[in-house]
Amino acid sequence: MTPTTATAPEVAPFRPFELIVLRTRRLGPSILRITLGGPGADGFSGGGRDQSLSVLLPRPGQSEALPRPGRSEALAPAGGGGAWHDKWRALPEDERAVPRSYAVRAQRLRADGSTEVDLDFVLHDAGGPGCRWALAAAPGDRLAVLGPTEADNTAVRFRPPADTDWVLIRADETALPAAAAALEWLPAGLPARVWLEVPCTEDRQALNTAAKARISWLVRNEGAACGVETVRAAELPGGTPYAWIAGEASGVRALRHHLVHERGFDRERVMSAAYWRRGLPEEQLRRAEAEPR
Ligand SMILES: Cc1cc2nc3c(=O)[nH]c(=O)nc-3n(C[C@H](O)[C@H](O)[C@H](O)COP(=O)(O)OP(=O)(O)OC[C@H]3O[C@@H](n4cnc5c(N)ncnc54)[C@H](O)[C@@H]3O)c2cc1C
Repeated sequence: MTPTTATAPEVAPFRPFELIVLRTRRLGPSILRITLGGPGADGFSGGGRDQSLSVLLPRPGQSEALPRPGRSEALAPAGGGGAWHDKWRALPEDERAVPRSYAVRAQRLRADGSTEVDLDFVLHDAGGPGCRWALAAAPGDRLAVLGPTEADNTAVRFRPPADTDWVLIRADETALPAAAAALEWLPAGLPARVWLEVPCTEDRQALNTAAKARISWLVRNEGAACGVETVRAAELPGGTPYAWIAGEASGVRALRHHLVHERGFDRERVMSAAYWRRGLPEEQLRRAEAEPR
């Protein structure tokens, strides 16, 4: 396949951006696309694949997500988030804007030189600040994000090594935006076996890829089996694989175990990420992941 950067860069160039909601569009019963832009998007450098950012949501009673003092300095480009990020992290957690992770589904440069960014939000029944913000979002609303100032930053984790013969992708609806962008990026003709899980039939999307992708939709309201058994039963291509698995934590862990311990995949070639965990808000999930096992 086309040579890729197999390892992430050593710096994580990102900074806060203040974006404006331009429009919203329901992609299906469970997924809402929010297109953002405005002058604050200048310098936003999406790199495709599964690149993610943090949306920063004001707490109840707060009108601003970004701290006012040092605002001008804060929004100046700075590798690694800069002084603003340090100040923000130093705030007590109950005063800090709530961060939530979302994939950069797409970035477009418009004819007038302005930038548009699409984020696809899953509208889940458990609620949460991210989901609630998306449901209420309307054109003209502001959204602060900690986003990329370089296309190839450390928030890109889909990195098939150059000797990859084929790619396995398994994503639930939260990882569908990232998986869709990764499929767009894959080189022409590369074999890919892809399982995409969504809540409802109408959540399925048309996907663009030049890869030789065999895509299976697992639709929960149609009663599809969504556990590891689906991949276990599949005949996989031969050659050297690269696997990318993201979604609910327990399913991700089970599939990683299957690929590494039952299929013999090299663990270094399996990128797995818990995008959410049932019953845990994102900050608690991150804390749980950081604890020693
Ligand atoms: C790198 C990365 C990229 C991500 N990209 C996207 C993306 O592009 N689009 C997207 O929608 N999500 C994405 N996610 C997942 C998203 O960050 C989580 O779903 C997050 O928990 C949503 O925040 P919230 O405020 O709505 O809920 P939280 O406050 O975090 O959680 C509240 C409750 O909701 C539950 N919950 C959270 N998400 C779901 C869900 N999808 N279904 C059912 N229950 C849920 C939690 O278990 C908890 O009980 C990504 C996560 C990561 C780490």
